[in-house]
Amino acid sequence: MARHICQSCGMPLAKDPKGGGLEKDGRTHSTRYCSLCYDNGVFLQPDIKVTSMQHLVIHSLQRNGWPKFAAWLATRNIPKLDRWNGNP
Ligand SMILES: [Zn+2]
Repeated sequence: MARHICQSCGMPLAKDPKGGGLEKDGRTHSTRYCSLCYDNGVFLQPDIKVTSMQHLVIHSLQRNGWPKFAAWLATRNIPKLDRWNGNP
């Protein structure tokens, strides 16, 4: 599976201004999770459900000017990402 998108929210890691979430050592960037989902080796919202993540991403994309339908389409594959498939 492609690793170029965050395996939690689906954002392209190339668009993460911080270049990915930080691992436990505070220096290494994760190759799997963005800085909005992951920091210091842990998820920032450990108990979030996948449907809530989809809502968050839709709202975030809409704030960036995406039409609602396009934002919804972009989040359809989030449940297929590793975090939501028992492979975090
Ligand atoms: Zn993310």
